[in-house]
Amino acid sequence: GLGPYDPQNVFAKILRGEIPCRKIYENEHALAFHDIAPKAPVHALIIPKGPYVSFADFSSQASDAEIGGFTRAVGHVAAQLGLEDAGYRLLSNMGAAAGQEVPHFHVHLFGGAALGPMLQ
Ligand code: 5GP
Repeated sequence: GLGPYDPQNVFAKILRGEIPCRKIYENEHALAFHDIAPKAPVHALIIPKGPYVSFADFSSQASDAEIGGFTRAVGHVAAQLGLEDAGYRLLSNMGAAAGQEVPHFHVHLFGGAALGPMLQ
């Protein structure tokens, strides 16, 4: 696994305002911002505010309110970015086999062009 939660990971620093981000949306339980190295015309990241390393930790440890707030934030971002009609892709890399780099759970949202069959 990726080990215990590291409060010095880059997304923890973004949540604390220690490094900047291009914010898209925020609610009580989630923050959304543009990926620094976009792999599609629109590439957003949505993260919960709580200290969860990966989807496994988030889905098993977060409260229903956190899971609800996070899930609604994902939908809100897609709508705010105007992607609902054209469609979009959600992806989350879970752990080493998937190549997860940042050890704070996040969902990628890709859109803005016809997407190929796979996108990391
Ligand atoms: P992972 O491979 O962990 O699923 O993806 C991590 C993503 O975070 C990558 O797409 C990478 O470009 C993005 N990322 C890494 N560091 C930063 C940063 O400091 N700011 C932003 N906005 N995105 C970052």
